[in-house]
Formats: sequence, structure tokens, C-alpha cells
Amino acid sequence: MKKNIRNLDKEELRDLFKSMGQPSYRADQVWRWLWVEGVSTFEEMTNLSKALRSELDEGFEIDKAIVASVQNSSDGTVKSAFKLVDGATVEAVLIPVPDDRRFTLCVSCQVGCSLSCSFCATGRMKRVRNLTAGEIVDQFFEVNKQSLEIFGHPLTNIVYMGMGEPLLTYREVMKSIDRITDQDGINMSPRRITVSTAGIAKMIKKLADDEVRFNLALSLHAANDKKRDEIMAINEQNDLNSLMEALTYFHRKTGNRISYEYIAFHEFNDSEEDAEQLAQLCTNFPVRVNIIEYNPVEGLDFIKSDEDRLDRFAGILVDRGVRVTVRRSRGKDIDAACGQLANKN
Ligand code: SF4
Repeated sequence: MKKNIRNLDKEELRDLFKSMGQPSYRADQVWRWLWVEGVSTFEEMTNLSKALRSELDEGFEIDKAIVASVQNSSDGTVKSAFKLVDGATVEAVLIPVPDDRRFTLCVSCQVGCSLSCSFCATGRMKRVRNLTAGEIVDQFFEVNKQSLEIFGHPLTNIVYMGMGEPLLTYREVMKSIDRITDQDGINMSPRRITVSTAGIAKMIKKLADDEVRFNLALSLHAANDKKRDEIMAINEQNDLNSLMEALTYFHRKTGNRISYEYIAFHEFNDSEEDAEQLAQLCTNFPVRVNIIEYNPVEGLDFIKSDEDRLDRFAGILVDRGVRVTVRRSRGKDIDAACGQLANKN
């Protein structure tokens, strides 16, 4: 059986070429083909001899994720379905804000998700498997091309907020961020990357211990344990106390940006009392709150918060000195908005 060449890190690749009697710069050339050019075959590695390309092809494969279909929203958002080598599908979304010269990729890290948050379309699919770092970076390569073609601008930001829980795909997510931020490669600043978690306290502490340099978002969605237990089963083992403690630790150790994602559900988590409780959770460390408009998911009973309630809710937070952004949803017409990714097509 062929081995996946993208599982090798730089050193392992150099060792491989040494064992093949090749100079070490060959390993660097192949590294660039894999992690800068994003090729799908050894045949495309044109600065290698034909014999070397065949030798690599005999022992290795490239687990390239291919764009299977693309949907364009009327608001400019583009959703792509990626077909993986085993036939599974994941989705990635390009969210353009041309006026701010901001072109964000929302990337998936698992096929399905094991956490089953009750408001989320992905959570209704079973977790099938984790993506490899290569499959995650392929979403970057392809969506970056789309961004250049459609908007004449490369991607500026990445959010790990698509399908799956990044902290349960820890090793491959970290590896993908290493590749994307590699100074000899894509070289994106880690400050432009945000990893979003449903909240796994012990893994948040691990991020801090690993001294990561990217931003962290907590999908909070409720400001007390009773309500959070109702919509996010993960809260039963990771209650708000443990999450606050882990985030405080993360802040102290890294100083990186932390944000809360908060989907506003009508008469569930958008009352004045909810706002006061949320404001209280913003006193432990500097944090920004992103309030997100809910996008209906077929078969689920949640309703989006109305404008008046949302304004009152956000107003209380502002009065308490909390930094708040209200994010109108993008790509609703193509099921590309937050919580809607579910491989419908
Ligand atoms: S919200 Fe995130 S963690 Fe929860 S089910 Fe959906 S993809 Fe999984």
C-alpha cells in the first residue's frame, strides 16, 4: 500500500531522500511542490527527473482533496464541496468583504462531527473521520485560487469554524497551521488565523502549553450552564467554570486574542438577564463577543432572535463595556452560513 507523502514533516522528507541516495535539496523541492504549489501528482514536479518522479509515485500517494462542486451566493459568498480520496465530502466557504480587503476562508477539519450541538446541521451528521493536514491545506489552496480569480485578492484570514471540532483533530489541525504559517511556504501570519472550539477545557490548556500564536474563539451560545447543557452536550463535561479557568490560563500564557461566538436564538438566550450573565463572563480576560444571526436549519425548531431583542441584548453588553460585533449571516441562500454546513448536495 502506498504511503501518504504529506504525512512526512520536513525532517522525515529529508531522511527519505537521503535513504534514496538523493541530495537534501531534492527534499526541499518536493516540500515546495506539496506545500506551496499544492500539486496533486508527482508528474507535476517538473524540476525532478522522470526516474525520481516514477520512484516516488511507486511508493507514495498525495491525498489531494478535489473541488467537486461550487455554489455562489448572491452576497458574494462561495461554498465549495471537496471530495476526499476515500469519497467522503467536506465543505469550505469563502467569505469576501472587498471593502475591508478581507477575504476569509472558513475551513472544515472533520467529516461530520461527534459533538451534536442541537442547533447545528453538521452535528446531525455522524463523525466519520478527521481530515489530514493535507486535506485541510487543500481547502486553502483551492479557495485561495477562487479568491484570486473572483476578487483579484488572495485570502487574508482563516477561521477553523467549518465542519468538525478542531481540538478533537488536534494533531492534524496544528500541522495544517504549521504548513500555512511556514515562512518558507504560504507564510500567513498566525494572527490572521482563528481556531474555534465548542469548548474542551483540557485542550484549551494544551494550546496554551504548546504556545500557539493564533487566535481562539469559544462557541459559547449560552451564558449559564443550564442553557448551555441544553444545546451543547459538550458542556456537561466542560462547564463554564472549567472553560473560564482554561481561557484565563490561555490568556495568561499566550496573550493571544480570545473571542466568544454567540448565536442569538429567539427567547432562548437573548434576554436582558442573558446579556448580564454574558457580560459577567467577559470580566475574566479581554474578550470580544461576536453575536451571530441564527440561520434556520431544516428540521430544527430554533428561531432567530428579532431585531429589537438583538439590539437590546447588544446594547446591554456595550453599556457594560464589552466589545461587541453583530454579524449578519452570509451565504444563507446556499446553506453556507454558520451552522449550516451539512453536505446537502
Ligand atoms: S457547532 Fe461545531 S462542534 Fe457543534 S456540532 Fe456543529 S460543527 Fe460540531
